[in-house]
Amino acid sequence: MSLHHHHGLFFAALAIFTISVQAISTQSFSIPSISHMHKHKQWETFHNFTSCRLGQTQKGLSTVKNYLHRFGYIPHAPPTNFSDVFDETLVFAIRSYQKNYHLNITGKLDDNTVKHMMQPRCGVPDIIHTEKKDTTTGKQIRSHFHMGSYYAFFDGNLRWPAGTKQLTYSFLPQNNVNNDYKRAFARAFSRWAPWMPFSFKEITSNETADIKIGFYKGDHGDGFPFDGPYNVLAHARPPIDGSFHLDAEEYWVASGDVTKSPVSRAIDLESVAVHEIGHLLGLDHSNDKKSVMWPVLQTRTRRVNLGYDDIKGIKVLYAIK
Ligand code: ZN
Repeated sequence: MSLHHHHGLFFAALAIFTISVQAISTQSFSIPSISHMHKHKQWETFHNFTSCRLGQTQKGLSTVKNYLHRFGYIPHAPPTNFSDVFDETLVFAIRSYQKNYHLNITGKLDDNTVKHMMQPRCGVPDIIHTEKKDTTTGKQIRSHFHMGSYYAFFDGNLRWPAGTKQLTYSFLPQNNVNNDYKRAFARAFSRWAPWMPFSFKEITSNETADIKIGFYKGDHGDGFPFDGPYNVLAHARPPIDGSFHLDAEEYWVASGDVTKSPVSRAIDLESVAVHEIGHLLGLDHSNDKKSVMWPVLQTRTRRVNLGYDDIKGIKVLYAIK
């Protein structure tokens, strides 16, 4: 399947989905222009801030804050925009990011840190902040930090109910995913299956399936818009939501050897699916680089075998001996 055919397929599908869900009847979709795509790749300018220090102001620095906010390293966004000041909030956020990814903790946007931020990754934040009502003090923010730990669960240890015998999954009909794609997802589910108290089965009905898989472009109505090619690849929700979304603008490779792909931005579909299924089952991001729940996946790379940490985590969550 050529790249253009591949995109056309998903654009057509997306238009239908957006119209039906968001009731935008006049919006039309087209292949994004270079400038539009550029807008979504602001993190490519992060290299400009390498020499920026505490107290300095540099135009565009707010994009770094937006990035760190998106993945949970800055809990609160200001009512308007982030400022372009290299302030203490930013230093703290960079330090937390560096700690989480085992980078040198410098509090600066050094080359290694910027390179790391530019890698393809999962869209689920690394630090999840949830508001909890507290009867005495009012609202409290509870932050789910993973630093120093390995496997992690979502707040409340969300999991599929005890006694579940089978989880069904289906594909968004408008995507018309081909058999290569379906086989890649089936292989990804089969990586988890031996460790689960239930089985997985593909069904055609998107309404009744426990897990709903769909490829979407940009803003697709769930508050977590995709960013076009590169960076965020996919996101999925913890149990028992079942939403599993992939960025339609990535160059997905569903079969063959991704490491030999002539396309430098090729992403292995099965590897991303294994990671997102981990979220769908209740695992959050892991700090273990060998884990499939590590949030970053390089281009032209396969990572499909569950790590010791993933297996340990899923066994604890589902109380499997
Ligand atoms: Zn993830």
